[in-house]
Amino acid sequence: MLDCDSYISCLPNHKSKFCPLLLFQYFSTSTDDQFGFALVKEEINEAVLKNNQPAAAAKITELMMKEKNITLNIAITGESGAGKSTFVNALRGLSDDDEGAAPTGVTETTIEVTPYPHPNYPNVTLWDLPGIGSTKFPADKYLELVGFEKFDLFIIISATRFTENDVKLAQEIQRMKKKFYFVRSKIDNDINAERRKRNFSAERTLTKIREDCVKGECSSPQVFLVSSFELYLYDLPLLQQTLDRDLPGHKRDALLCAMPNINPEIIRKKKQALKSKVKYWATLSAAGAAVPVPGLSIAVDAAVLVGAVTHYVFAFGLDIPSLKRLSARTGVPYADLRAVIMSPLAVAPLDLLSPGSGANRNKKDFITKIIKNISWQLLISQQTRGSEG
Ligand code: GDP
Repeated sequence: MLDCDSYISCLPNHKSKFCPLLLFQYFSTSTDDQFGFALVKEEINEAVLKNNQPAAAAKITELMMKEKNITLNIAITGESGAGKSTFVNALRGLSDDDEGAAPTGVTETTIEVTPYPHPNYPNVTLWDLPGIGSTKFPADKYLELVGFEKFDLFIIISATRFTENDVKLAQEIQRMKKKFYFVRSKIDNDINAERRKRNFSAERTLTKIREDCVKGECSSPQVFLVSSFELYLYDLPLLQQTLDRDLPGHKRDALLCAMPNINPEIIRKKKQALKSKVKYWATLSAAGAAVPVPGLSIAVDAAVLVGAVTHYVFAFGLDIPSLKRLSARTGVPYADLRAVIMSPLAVAPLDLLSPGSGANRNKKDFITKIIKNISWQLLISQQTRGSEG
């Protein structure tokens, strides 16, 4: 790889030209090439080295489409009443009585293999599977009947010790070269029951549940303790980290984006993942600005900006339906939540696609300045890092 100075010096008019495409020089290509990601990244780098903005922009668009089309299928299985449907809803950021939620209840509610796409990321699907061992889904044919091939991983849920059926299923999943994870559900119930005892210790109770799972029939090295009613407590963040570690690179971002924002660590990771993509948006904007057709560059900038901001809004659950659900769950009025997230950019509604008026021209200038400023700062920081390395 060229070092920073020699790369810049080989560009035409390098001293006077601002080129956000330079950024890509310092982003290595991934080795995860099952879906041709590394090849497209290589092509972007090549276009960048040739200072060919249109080609780089076309390849970036291709890369973004590829990322958008990455599917992640998570199967949630376990015995009836274990809390599968409730877990599916909680991971999708839905309450049990929200529209589109999986039906839950004390009677058997999951009798078919049912897909539940994530409301904001429909490429991520949680599959609510019927309990193993029913007449329709006998244990020995279970994986075949649920169509195991389509799932990236299995989560086996139990509200008590894992049964012989659960363990057999785990072994079978492993034989099919798929991953499984044991989740012990309804931990809030256990904690509340123990809380009444003298010398109550949450820590001790959780350790006991873990040991009990292992001592019983469960041979998994790790069991994740979860409450679907209090996702932010216990082991859900640990489960997320474990899935993140086990999934192939191109699926990790899909999982991360779809994860509920249950703690600052997940929010920080999302921020990092989104930040790593700013270079793409900046390049698309720069390529749009180079188009010599009046009005078109504004439309391209607007489309780029709207695309990026929409993605950020969804990832952080700041879209209106997510905010309304959050309001219903927490009791904080929707108007208050909205007021908190109002940014100076959102205060005046931007009619970006009709840039004729003076006001809109000013807004356009403002946004262009922001985009250029971000691109510029990124460029400087990348160059600094490059020359230090
Ligand atoms: P499924 O048959 O495995 O899909 O189980 P459901 O999701 O329908 O849940 C069965 C019952 O357990 C319902 O009454 C849920 O409200 C309850 N439940 C599920 N998850 C939890 C949890 O994390 N904590 C508590 N306290 N109850 C839960």
